[in-house]
Amino acid sequence: MAMHSDIDAEEKAWQDYANCLGVDPDLFFPERGASTREAKEVCRGCVVRDDCLEYALQNGEKFGIWGGMSERERRRIRRQRALARAAAAAQADGVTA
Ligand code: SF4
Repeated sequence: MAMHSDIDAEEKAWQDYANCLGVDPDLFFPERGASTREAKEVCRGCVVRDDCLEYALQNGEKFGIWGGMSERERRRIRRQRALARAAAAAQADGVTA
């Protein structure tokens, strides 16, 4: 997709299989409060959805729909992962202490 065109070449092999190739990038950057339904529909049938979502999470993408998820949804996942990491670290500390 055009929105992903700044991704490093080695990292974007998955992008060649993106369902959104040729789709209007504006669809993936809806105005605040606008529907994300159409973009998510495109993502739903995308075979590289997991790669796309993981890329956005790893790179802290703050805007747009990636991997079928909005900024807010990705923030929630990042928060959950951070909590899980903290819990795992606390548990490891408890084991070694
Ligand atoms: S998951 Fe959505 S935004 Fe990501 S490559 Fe697939 S269609 Fe495009």
